[in-house]
Amino acid sequence: MYGSEDTGDKPPNLGSMLAPDAMAARLCDVPIAALRARGICGIILDLDNTLVGFGLDEPDEASGAWVREATAAGLRIVLLSNNFPERVARVAGALGIGGIPNALKPLPFGFARALKHLALPGRAVAVVGDQLFTDMLGGKLFGCYTVLTEPIEHRDFPLTRVFRFFERFVLAHRRSS
Ligand SMILES: [Mg+2]
Repeated sequence: MYGSEDTGDKPPNLGSMLAPDAMAARLCDVPIAALRARGICGIILDLDNTLVGFGLDEPDEASGAWVREATAAGLRIVLLSNNFPERVARVAGALGIGGIPNALKPLPFGFARALKHLALPGRAVAVVGDQLFTDMLGGKLFGCYTVLTEPIEHRDFPLTRVFRFFERFVLAHRRSS
């Protein structure tokens, strides 16, 4: 994982609202000790293509182990997903963590519910997810630390494919600027 320090000398704009604070290949590559060292006490975790592959019902061994390790390290975790209640409840229940479905990310309502569930302010929470326009943008609106992971696989919902089309422009622009 690598991150960038916010120097705080620029006003926020859409580009900075979409820029993740750190990136990791997979959930299991997100360093739990480094999050704790930043004062992070809770995690808002995306479900599809971050914790679990598209259409699968449970995380792979490494992702499941990461959730257990993070919980053991004192991090509170809640799943926040645009997916349906049955699917979110099944995955969250199997891991013993909370789950909020129908989140309509990046709209603020789901993130507000997730922070309330964690009983933490945004600055003490990391959002981990695979999408700029839902996970990263929504997290930034609440002052969360944002970690972008690579999608587990490239199958997606139709609407997600539209977001990914625009994500490629944003990421390509950032690399060239
Ligand atoms: Mg996702």
